[in-house]
Amino acid sequence: MTQDNISTRAAAMTNDQGGFEAQQQTPPGSTTAMQPVPDHGEQTYVGHDRLAGLRALITGGDSGIGRAVAIAYAREGADVALSYLPEEQADAEDTAAWVEKAGRKAVLLPGDLRTKEVCEQVVKDAVDGLGGLDVLVNNAGYQMARTEGIDELRDDDLDRVFKTNLYATFWVTRAVSPHLGSGASIINTTSIQAYEPSTTMLDYAATKAGLNNFTVNLAAELGPRGIRVNAVAPGPIWTPLQPATQSAEKVEQFGGDTPLGRAGQPGEVAGAYVFLAAPAEAGYVSATVVGVTGGKPVF
Ligand code: NAD
Ligand code: MG
Repeated sequence: MTQDNISTRAAAMTNDQGGFEAQQQTPPGSTTAMQPVPDHGEQTYVGHDRLAGLRALITGGDSGIGRAVAIAYAREGADVALSYLPEEQADAEDTAAWVEKAGRKAVLLPGDLRTKEVCEQVVKDAVDGLGGLDVLVNNAGYQMARTEGIDELRDDDLDRVFKTNLYATFWVTRAVSPHLGSGASIINTTSIQAYEPSTTMLDYAATKAGLNNFTVNLAAELGPRGIRVNAVAPGPIWTPLQPATQSAEKVEQFGGDTPLGRAGQPGEVAGAYVFLAAPAEAGYVSATVVGVTGGKPVF
């Protein structure tokens, strides 16, 4: 099967509204409970040694976009460390098996990144396990769609969204920074929500807009050290996050409002992360956000 077939497969996976069968999970969600199980490029991604010998830490690497990135990175020649929540052990082991099948090393790092101590420990274990780090993919994220307005916004929800999406990104990046040398790169995961926010995700959208700002500002700071900082802004992608945080009705229409008329699969996002990490292809690319949105503008 050739690499471009993933989009044909992805289109065939959606219903006539561009989304999926009504379904729901509780956070953080599991891959095997999804109907259909997402396509992470397992049967399609072909590597070309673009990341040969590199060592990458991918937060939220057990499932969804993080799993697709781990598979692609391994097939491009990188060893990977995967951070995830302890209850996601089964998903993490499945991802590790794909990495090892590609002949690369996978280091598994369970831990809840909502405290500084865990972020620092995860980074230390990634550095020890891989012998250093060249690429950091800040990908762990949390959202919860709300039907009530701001008057009903709960502090514990706000705390979880901001701690996971912003604090953890700052803590992990700060701990990784001393380990990165010239040629290294950081890739943040933002969202179409930074550009076209939904009122149901007031808090989440604000964190993603914050990550865009963090990306360009950190790129300015780390550029003189030869370190590039970029972001990927996905649109609607079929991952456990969606049935775990959106209503069953939303899942049925998920992605149908994009110009391409459907949700994307995680395997359709991985290429952007490969490009941004690849020293030969993206050596002069920094402070940019690559949209993978099914046609929604990210400017
Ligand atoms: P996912 O659920 O597969 O991945 C998110 C991962 O974040 C989880 O697997 C989990 O391991 C990790 N995580 C969450 N809370 C954590 C915590 N407290 N500590 C440690 N890890 C934690 O879903 P995904 O859609 O692949 O999400 C990956 C990223 O993509 C997220 O940042 C998300 O906001 C972003 N994103 C997703 C979409 C989409 O439509 N799926 C769209 C735009 C942006
Ligand atoms: Mg997961």
